[in-house]
Amino acid sequence: MRDNRDVKDYIRTIVDFPHEGIMFRDVTTLFADPRGFRMAIDQLLHPYAGVRFDKVVGLEARGFILGGAVAHQLSAGFVPIRKKGKLPGAVISEEYQLEYGEAIVEIHDDAIKAGEKILLVDDLLATGGTAEAGIKLVERLGGEIIGCAFIVDLPDLGGRAKLETLGMEVHALCA
Ligand code: 5GP
Repeated sequence: MRDNRDVKDYIRTIVDFPHEGIMFRDVTTLFADPRGFRMAIDQLLHPYAGVRFDKVVGLEARGFILGGAVAHQLSAGFVPIRKKGKLPGAVISEEYQLEYGEAIVEIHDDAIKAGEKILLVDDLLATGGTAEAGIKLVERLGGEIIGCAFIVDLPDLGGRAKLETLGMEVHALCA
């Protein structure tokens, strides 16, 4: 069956979610489509063919869905970064600014060993605050981030520039 859709074509936009004025990129429609999901994982992996990673780090929550599939393909381990209070073991934390207020994300303090090569994965890069907090957590544990991969990059919100200032290589499938 012929189907010329690209990753972007599977993502729908929900107007005024979670509040008025926000155009929310809903990737559940991409995840739900067998061809779309497979294409997204293949394209996330593409720049890293032949590169060895020890672990993929996924940001809660859609980064878990993507990161698990990517880790399996890379034969790497998977490590979740979760919102405060969700991880059962000893953690380290990073606080970051949201549009209104702050958020805290955490990682198990033994999830990454010094020198391990890491791929950071999330569904969407906006201001870059979430990814930056994740990068800080990984680097505090001594991990070496080789790449940061996203389905969607919204460059007008400054996330890509922020991560590149931190020395990160950003890979995104669409804007
Ligand atoms: P940032 O911290 O870069 O401003 O926001 C990115 C984080 O918020 C990601 O973890 C992402 O899942 C979530 N996010 C923000 N806006 C959207 C959106 O429009 N669609 C989706 N799927 N996630 C979003």
